[in-house]
Amino acid sequence: MSSAQRQEYLNALGLQTWTLRTSGAAVAASIAASPVPTAGPLVESAAAPAVGPEVAAPREAAYDWPQLRERVATCTRCGLSATRTQTVFGVGNLQAEWLVVGEAPGADEDRQGEPFVGRAGQLLNSMLRAIGLAREQVYIANVLKCRPPQNRDPLPKEAGQCLPFLDRQIALLRPKIMLVVGRIAAQNLLHTDAKVGTLRQQVHTFGPAHVPLVVTYHPAYLLRSPAEKRKAWEDLKFAREVFARG
Ligand code: SF4
Repeated sequence: MSSAQRQEYLNALGLQTWTLRTSGAAVAASIAASPVPTAGPLVESAAAPAVGPEVAAPREAAYDWPQLRERVATCTRCGLSATRTQTVFGVGNLQAEWLVVGEAPGADEDRQGEPFVGRAGQLLNSMLRAIGLAREQVYIANVLKCRPPQNRDPLPKEAGQCLPFLDRQIALLRPKIMLVVGRIAAQNLLHTDAKVGTLRQQVHTFGPAHVPLVVTYHPAYLLRSPAEKRKAWEDLKFAREVFARG
């Protein structure tokens, strides 16, 4: 990759702001020159069925895209249906090779009905551009399709009741890689209590198809903690390498 391309990626991710505040061009050079992390060994996730006992036989397992979208739009399976403005199904290319999975809709998403809009969405778009992907090339979804009030963490029961929808989205999409952003999404998909700092920089797998899964920080967290953007950049390069490796 040329240095001009590298700088373009770093600019897209917003790392130049962090760089200038610290020590100028020397730091920029050190970030740009940082080696692409070598993809580690596959870490098999528990890959246990995400469905809890209360939803042991979800009918949506046979739905096509329109049926699934309609099912989600009218879902009252958990209490979040009472406080949402609308469900947030997911958005993107149905032929996408990359699936980005986040936690749940926030206020902007609840209002607009689309995941990752607002400032966090803009940063996600920049993160994707940093590895050469337009938002339109990927598919973006959340574990939860309805906004938890005051953006509280979803309850395990709520996540368990909603996950069959994401499971079906994954089965229909058949992505080549999953980029999972943030603690809540990672913990629910990998059935672990581990934090992002522990889960990142490893190749996990998801589901019976063993889809490679890479974890990084949520864009909303990166907005609050810009110093962590460098780690996110490492994770994006790592995911790109895992994808390229096939
Ligand atoms: S969060 Fe999921 S399970 Fe709960 S009401 Fe919304 S769509 Fe249904």
